[in-house]
Amino acid sequence: MLRVAIDGPGGTGKSSIAKAVAERLGLEYIDTGAMYRSIALKSLRKGVDAEDEPAVVKMLEETLIDFEDNKVYLDGEDVSGLIRTNEISMAASTISKLGPVRAKVDEVSKRLASTKNVVMEGRDIGTAVIPDAEVKIFMTADSDVRAERRYKQLLEQGKEADLEVIKSEIEKRDYQDSHREINPLKQADDAVFLDTSNMTKEEVIDTVCELIAEKRQ
Ligand code: C5P
Repeated sequence: MLRVAIDGPGGTGKSSIAKAVAERLGLEYIDTGAMYRSIALKSLRKGVDAEDEPAVVKMLEETLIDFEDNKVYLDGEDVSGLIRTNEISMAASTISKLGPVRAKVDEVSKRLASTKNVVMEGRDIGTAVIPDAEVKIFMTADSDVRAERRYKQLLEQGKEADLEVIKSEIEKRDYQDSHREINPLKQADDAVFLDTSNMTKEEVIDTVCELIAEKRQ
């Protein structure tokens, strides 16, 4: 059994690193943030207030979430291409504070981690979802660096971007994710701390693969 847990704040490049590592080592990649984002998407579509717990619980009773082959499914619909907006990022951070929402995503995540060798990334994988993961990494980067990376990415996509706005959104989400009551973003005691501020993507992928190889010996 090999379960790799990668946690850390938003915008650190966790997703692309986790995906590349999974591909290189032949593991299954699971993006738990995508599942929170899908629930947020549904709440926005249905006009359900992300802070109204009873209304969210009612919505969850009629909601199916799944993650397979790098795609997230909301009630059977592949919504992977619809969940990468700023609006959804903040809505996901808000709705993910609720216990029933976390329980729903945890159930799917734990099921996936129990049947396959996985690289799972999120905020609470090493602390709550797979506390006995074979490899745990806490990945972070300076918020200035994260904002700069996001800014460049948006410009490359031909989109408008304001560096200061991006930075303040990143910091707001960091604060919200690390200060919620249930399973906040926090480094597990036994996780390896990895600051990627001054590393290239290739360097980070190599470092994570080396950490996994050490644990596998
Ligand atoms: O990782 P990503 O930015 O896609 O996650 C979106 C949001 O989902 C995060 O800001 C966080 O609030 C929530 N999340 C979480 N626990 C996880 C993964 C994501 O609370 N394991």
